[in-house]
Amino acid sequence: MNDCIFCKIVAGAIPAQRVYEDDLMIAFKDINPKAPVHLLAVPRLHLARLDGLDDSHRELIAHMMLTLPRLAREQGAGDFRTIINNGAGAGQEVPHLHMHILGGGKLPGF
Ligand code: 5GP
Ligand code: ZN
Repeated sequence: MNDCIFCKIVAGAIPAQRVYEDDLMIAFKDINPKAPVHLLAVPRLHLARLDGLDDSHRELIAHMMLTLPRLAREQGAGDFRTIINNGAGAGQEVPHLHMHILGGGKLPGF
């Protein structure tokens, strides 16, 4: 297996508090939550970052984006913010594409 921490979570090789999974993606609780509800949605496929995607990923990304509101609702996020950090300069620490879902209370302005 490669050295990617989110690939290891996808494979079940390291534990995470999973809240959702299907054929294309999984979602789990962020280990260092920055809001009362902080989830990470990740594709099962190792994709490093948003700007590396191409047309072949259209269905995957649409599926993930359309699944986010359901996850937010099921986890009690209420109104929520979603963030994708693209690259280290933007704060991406884990080089496996992920969508943050932040909610569960009033979020600071952005
Ligand atoms: P990034 O800064 O790359 O956009 O976000 C990475 C997120 O992954 C951070 O919010 C960090 O807390 C979370 N994270 C890093 N390692 C782990 C881990 O092993 N398990 C879980 N559940 N979250 C992690
Ligand atoms: Zn990975």
